[in-house]
Amino acid sequence: EELLGDPSRENVPRQVPGYHYSPVQPTPVADPRLFAWSAELAAFLGVMRPPEQGPGVELLAGNRVAATMQPYAARYGGHQFGNWAGQLGDGRAISLGELQATDGSRWELQLKGAGPTPYSRRADGRAVLRSSIREFLCSEAMYHLGVPTTRALSLVSTGDEVVRDMFYNGNARPEPGAVVCRVAPSFVRFGNFQILLAHQELDNLRQLADYVIRHHFPELGEPSEAVYAQWFAEICRRTAVMVAHWMTVGFVHGVMNTDNMSILGLTIDYGPYGWLEPYEPGWTPNTTDFSTYRYAFGQQPRVALWNLMQLAQALSPLVPDATTTLRPALDLYAATFNQTRQAMLLRKLGLTPLPDGRPDYALTKALHTALETSEADMTLFFRRLSHLVPALLAGADDQTATFQSFIEEVSYNPLGAVHTPLLDWLARYAERLQQETAAPEAIRAGMLAANPKYVLRNYLAQQAIEAAEAGDLTDLERLYHVLKTPFEEHPAYEDLAAKRPEWARTKPGSATLSCSS
Ligand code: AMP
Ligand code: MG
Ligand code: MG
Repeated sequence: EELLGDPSRENVPRQVPGYHYSPVQPTPVADPRLFAWSAELAAFLGVMRPPEQGPGVELLAGNRVAATMQPYAARYGGHQFGNWAGQLGDGRAISLGELQATDGSRWELQLKGAGPTPYSRRADGRAVLRSSIREFLCSEAMYHLGVPTTRALSLVSTGDEVVRDMFYNGNARPEPGAVVCRVAPSFVRFGNFQILLAHQELDNLRQLADYVIRHHFPELGEPSEAVYAQWFAEICRRTAVMVAHWMTVGFVHGVMNTDNMSILGLTIDYGPYGWLEPYEPGWTPNTTDFSTYRYAFGQQPRVALWNLMQLAQALSPLVPDATTTLRPALDLYAATFNQTRQAMLLRKLGLTPLPDGRPDYALTKALHTALETSEADMTLFFRRLSHLVPALLAGADDQTATFQSFIEEVSYNPLGAVHTPLLDWLARYAERLQQETAAPEAIRAGMLAANPKYVLRNYLAQQAIEAAEAGDLTDLERLYHVLKTPFEEHPAYEDLAAKRPEWARTKPGSATLSCSS
């Protein structure tokens, strides 16, 4: 059945009580051109790459709407940095409708940056090229790393300028605009439910829950009180798996507000995200979060749980005695997160569970401390460790020298006493490896399949952005190329796997970002 939409088509910012979404038309842009295209996603969806300019790109920019499309913007609310913010909604995202992929599954196409909607509040509904490149590259990179995520089909430059009230490279300046076409089975967030509870729209709440269950969780069966509880448990489970993936690859979302939490457990809303270079649980790239570090890398598992508690609150009218009905799902979150995180980490280390079932928690706990003290590069550490394994198993003569040259390769700290915990850990790890029965080469191969060589380092994204803004897409294309097969070697692209250069440590955009995009 159809959900109700606001019959008014005006893009005037307003409260939209009583509705799930508002029909809205994208606002045309001056000169749309195709900048990037996901060939893999397109093949899966069964759509063809359009030429750089023309009718196809006009669709992807919002300049043209097909007769079969009924564009809309969704209404949702959310907690921003822990505070209830009221109605937010799709302020610059416009859904075009659904497409049936080659396997029969249905995918929603959404234009981000396609102009104002009723939910734009005081903003312009547009996105800058800088943040659109970041969203395009990162969602595709995450997909190819195996992380649950929304996808990006296209990146289109608009030919329009967008002004952001921000300090960027030392100067406030107009920036080129862009539109990303993002793709997911659904973009429904925790916040879509929260706004309905906040307004006591309980019929709408049930209607949206039933819609989401029927369309996206059909395996749970027809909605009922018991099914609502099972559904919430499944959301908790998926969210735990998603966050475990983030912790495994070193991804910091940056703005884990409840309106940025997908009901399907997908990574959504690529804004001021970042990738750990030196391993640092307290790190966030988001300058807006520099007073509380609420969304720092190491906080993410806890914050996801807090967000799930807000969702439980929103869903509470659907079940009897919500506290006892929904509580077990939150415990499931914690258990799933801990198990998944540890299993993924052991795989990165080439370790299989010990016969006596001990999960190696002491070893991995010591690793986290050692990585932090040594300021080891998250990605390089595990990739180079994979190559070190055969030597560790062979018991090299001068172990200390081997360890030291390894540490020099992966750490941002010069050699010295600070590396004692990591040296100790490597010795302990070498000993633990002896209990593995697989051949050294097989262990190494397994580790290389779990430890990417290429991730979207912040400074590399920034370099690609600056070149693209100057009209040169070479860096963007090179980066995108390796991010599609991040576990493979690309000899001509070694520069994209290197340790972060010192200059990139503090440069705005390369190390830190604001929410403004
Ligand atoms: P975010 O921090 O990206 O999750 O955005 C929070 C809210 O602000 C969402 O409702 C967005 O749709 C809205 N928003 C962000 N940027 C813009 C913009 N340029 N124009 C209109 N709405 C925006
Ligand atoms: Mg958002
Ligand atoms: Mg955003």
